Amino acid sequence: MKKHEFYLENLDCPNCANKIQNKLIELNKYNSVIVNFNTLKLIIETDELDITEEVVEIVGEIKPEVVVRDYKDKNHCNHNDENDHCSCHDEDDDENDHNHHIEEHTKDESKNKKNSYKKSISKTKLDLYRLLIGIAIMVVGIYAGLPKKISSLCLIIAYIILLFRTGKNAIKLLKSGTIDENLLVTLSCIGAAFIGKQLEGFMVIILYEIGKILEAKAVNNSRKSIANLMDIKPEYANLKQASHEHRVSPEEVNIGDIIVIKQGEKIPLDGKVISGNAMLNVSSLTGESKLKEVGRDDEVLSGSINENGLIDVKVTKKYEDSTVSKILELVENATDKKAKTETFVNKASRIYTPIVLILALTTFLLLPFILKISFEESFYRGLIFLVVSCPCAIVISVPLSYFSGIGIASKHGILIKGSSYLDSLKDIKEIVFDKTGTLTKGEFEVQKIEAYEGYSEDEILEYTALGEVNSNHPIAVSILKKYNNYIDKDRISDFDEVPGKGICYKTDGKTVKIGTVDYAGDEKTNDQETVVYVKIDEKLAGKIILSDTIKEETIDTIKSLKKSGIITKMFTGDNGDIALKIGKEVGVDEVKAEMLPTDKYNELERIIKNYKEKSDGKEKVAFVGDGINDSPVLALADIGISMGGVGSSSAIEASDVVIMTDDLRKIKEAIKISKYTNKIIKENLLFALIVKSTVLILSVFGLVQMWLAVFADVGVTVLAICNTLRILHHRR
Ligand code: ADP
Ligand code: MG
Repeated sequence: MKKHEFYLENLDCPNCANKIQNKLIELNKYNSVIVNFNTLKLIIETDELDITEEVVEIVGEIKPEVVVRDYKDKNHCNHNDENDHCSCHDEDDDENDHNHHIEEHTKDESKNKKNSYKKSISKTKLDLYRLLIGIAIMVVGIYAGLPKKISSLCLIIAYIILLFRTGKNAIKLLKSGTIDENLLVTLSCIGAAFIGKQLEGFMVIILYEIGKILEAKAVNNSRKSIANLMDIKPEYANLKQASHEHRVSPEEVNIGDIIVIKQGEKIPLDGKVISGNAMLNVSSLTGESKLKEVGRDDEVLSGSINENGLIDVKVTKKYEDSTVSKILELVENATDKKAKTETFVNKASRIYTPIVLILALTTFLLLPFILKISFEESFYRGLIFLVVSCPCAIVISVPLSYFSGIGIASKHGILIKGSSYLDSLKDIKEIVFDKTGTLTKGEFEVQKIEAYEGYSEDEILEYTALGEVNSNHPIAVSILKKYNNYIDKDRISDFDEVPGKGICYKTDGKTVKIGTVDYAGDEKTNDQETVVYVKIDEKLAGKIILSDTIKEETIDTIKSLKKSGIITKMFTGDNGDIALKIGKEVGVDEVKAEMLPTDKYNELERIIKNYKEKSDGKEKVAFVGDGINDSPVLALADIGISMGGVGSSSAIEASDVVIMTDDLRKIKEAIKISKYTNKIIKENLLFALIVKSTVLILSVFGLVQMWLAVFADVGVTVLAICNTLRILHHRR
């Protein structure tokens, strides 16, 4: 299957983004279709190799002014450019044959890129000029004292010039069966002219156009801030070839190539240091500004910054598999999974416009009888209804809020994979924690080794290490660290790892089992520490007693989660006594021990079902684990949160929220960001609702002039977008 990525330049309304997405889905040809309004990205997965023309045609039908580009080329007109010429501005005046949409894909690519680049500049400028010329002609028409006929002609021309874009859009959309603000504004302008209030009509369209320009600026600015927030993308790599090095783009570097990272530079690809030493700043990945020293043989992650030193790195992953592009992809695509509130708003805005149209009509028809005013006056008041009815503020600010929330979270080392997860974090009522590596450090210290049946302690350690060499369980890592000798993997055969129990393998004709007391012990004991039993040929041969330490922040975090009304539980595969001991120490409400992965799954399923029935899906259950053998539960939970994501692709893939460090406090922080984002969204909704209904009520009684209504409408939108920006500057 191939993944096609397009950049939808000039796409400026979330509704149209939805429409494009739905239309493409309705074709029933592609495996998946996603349109992301925040990043203007369209992603289609399909077996077909070239779908560009098809996509261009469909997008063109819905939003002719959108230019479909190859996503890789988007930077020609993205935030890198100072003067925003290809802002998400509404509408363009191109005569619309679809040719210009495919300009990117014709033969002479670079030349065409330049052309369309220039075209974008002139388009926005053209809009501004059109506005100014329109205003100039209007002023002449009204104030120059020309003969009546000529001044009327001036006014008509001015009207046509000013209304050109909005009117054209209204007609286009009407043809495809949609009523939107373009139509409302056009109708009210023409309506005002008919009842002799030309000046009011002009005010409406002029303010509307200015508003659109401001709105585009505001949206663009916030996109830019978000992009800056995510500024971890490396621009180049210093590729070392023979004796000299040159700058190439990170995408061009292959596995095994040697790259040089100098002081102040970003590491472009994941790899291993082969020479030199450096102090790395990984804060852009983890949100924590701790410097990490690296030297020969240390792994380095792309996205870290070399603060001091010079290192040569052998590349171990292609750019697209490297940490930095994994993170970028995740965050950029996060808002594609639409949150409930968002779809609710989108749905609401779809029925909103028709309702306002009906209200306007009712006002027009009924007011003369109720308030004893002329039909002309009631027509005017009805027109104001039309003007105020644009749901723009909401439709634009809601997705932007989610996107900002996700952006700021990632800045703090918390990756949230979708707006719906950001939204539900605030509704968490119960959190179930895995023990090892989540509440505890997962770095076991070997306390004691016991050996029976003629085996020595060293032999027991060796047999255990042999088994653990193929495991990535925290216990395995700790035992191998203790053993610290070369292991010949050819000595191991019939290897099998049973999640939550242990390992079984054969060596030198012997069958070795290591793991829990059930699995590799002989009788139940009340161990006060984590114990790994070793059975050789079905006889207990020894055991290794391990101790793990509780993370520093665990106790405080659990306390504060409980204080905010969240029930905390611990599930573990470890034995009952040690589990109870640790559970008591960290202060969780409930402990369940000796659970196999399937037990964890079934128990969590039961809990989730309970909440679902109790609260109608409002209250959420989260599971926090390290992603090592708990991916099924992570996937099952309403919100699966994995810890220690940096460098661990399994943790990143398995969960809905990835915490890049091991720090449990980030869970509180994620919940906080969710609450704050939600607060801003509510503020915006409420603000828009209050202003609009006030204007509407006042207009019924003739207390509002039409231009004031437009001013209110545009003002609400711009203020709502600015309010959204507060999310980005929210301090912890
Ligand atoms: P937790 O629920 O605490 O994350 P697991 O489900 O991963 O624990 O494992 C439960 C128990 O199974 C461990 O405490 C250990 O005794 C045993 N076990 C699991 N995997 C291994 C392994 N690779 N080596 C030794 N013991 C293991
Ligand atoms: Mg575990």
